[in-house]
Amino acid sequence: MELHRQQCQKCNSYNMRNLLVRVPSKPQAVFVRCAECNEFVARYKLSDYYHHGKGAESYMRSHGSGAADSGRRILKEFSKVVGDAEKEFAEVMEQFKKEGKAE
Ligand SMILES: [Zn+2]
Repeated sequence: MELHRQQCQKCNSYNMRNLLVRVPSKPQAVFVRCAECNEFVARYKLSDYYHHGKGAESYMRSHGSGAADSGRRILKEFSKVVGDAEKEFAEVMEQFKKEGKAE
């Protein structure tokens, strides 16, 4: 596993703002902007966005799940995503601490 903190290519700041863009039936996008100099830093297109603490409804919206999908199937999938994301976040933070990048 290789870890990097996003850094502004213009002013070298690590202070970032994420701008989330959600268009129905398209992958959700995140535009990263430097919070110091406002430079555009990066764009991500997401196939599996998860926002901790936002709940199943938000998750379903960002994945474009429609009424045709089984609610039980989606909730099961959502529970797995919550567990996986929490586990991955803990692992990532652990490694950041080891590398002295947690601040
Ligand atoms: Zn900057």
